[in-house]
Amino acid sequence: MSSTDLLIVILENMGKNIIENKDYLTELDRVIGDADHGINMSKGFSAVNDKLGEMKGKDWGYILKNTAMTLISTVGGASGPLYGTAFLRAATVVDGKMDIDHEDVVNMFEQAIEGIKARGKSDRGDKTMLDALIPAFDALKAAYQNGLESKKAFQMAEDAALEGLEYTKTIIAKKGRASYLGERSIGHQDPGATSTYIAIRSIKETLE
Ligand code: ADP
Ligand code: MG
Ligand code: MG
Repeated sequence: MSSTDLLIVILENMGKNIIENKDYLTELDRVIGDADHGINMSKGFSAVNDKLGEMKGKDWGYILKNTAMTLISTVGGASGPLYGTAFLRAATVVDGKMDIDHEDVVNMFEQAIEGIKARGKSDRGDKTMLDALIPAFDALKAAYQNGLESKKAFQMAEDAALEGLEYTKTIIAKKGRASYLGERSIGHQDPGATSTYIAIRSIKETLE
C-alpha cells in the first residue's frame, strides 16, 4: 500500500471511530459544554469520508488540506476551526509529497500543535484537546528518537494521550465553553481531548 493510500485508510478509520463515539462525545460535552461535540465531529468526518474517493492518488499535502477545509466548513463550534487549523498546518509540512518519513510525521504533529495553540490562544493545562495531543506528540517524538517503528511509536503516543485525557478530569478549564464553569469543570473529562485521543488511537490501529 502506498503511503497516501495509508493516509486515506487512516482518515477513514478516524471517521468511523469518531462517528461510533458520537453519543459518548456529545454526552461529555453535555456536562461541561453545550452537548454538541460528537454531533460536530461526526458531521465533519462524514463530510471528509464523502470526499476520500476523490482524494485517492493525490499527495499528502493535498489530502490533508482538503480534510482541513472540509472540517472547517462543516464542523460547527470551536473544534471545527481548531481541528481544521491542525490539519492545515500539518499539510504544509508534506505539500507535494507522495511518501513521508518519521521526521515528516514529527514535524506534522509539531505544526498541528503550534496551529491549535495560535488559533485557540491555548496551551497544555487549559483542559483542551492539547492536553491529549501534546503528550502524544512528546511520546511519539521520543519513541522515534529511540528507533521504534511507527506502530510502536503510535502505541506510545496513544498511551500518553490517554494519560493526558485522564489528567483533564483533574484540572480547571481555562478555554472554551467549559471555562464558564470555572472550578465546577473539575472532575469532568474534556470532550475535545477525548476526540483527539480517539484520533491518535485510530492512527495506531491502522498501522501494521
Ligand atoms: P463548542 O465548544 O463551540 O460547542 P465543540 O463542543 O465541538 O465546540 O468542542 C469543544 C472542545 O474544543 C473542547 O472540549 C476543547 O477540547 C476544545 N477547545 C475549545 N476551545 C479551545 C481552545 N481555545 N483551544 C484548544 N481547544 C479548545
Ligand atoms: Mg460543544
Ligand atoms: Mg457548540
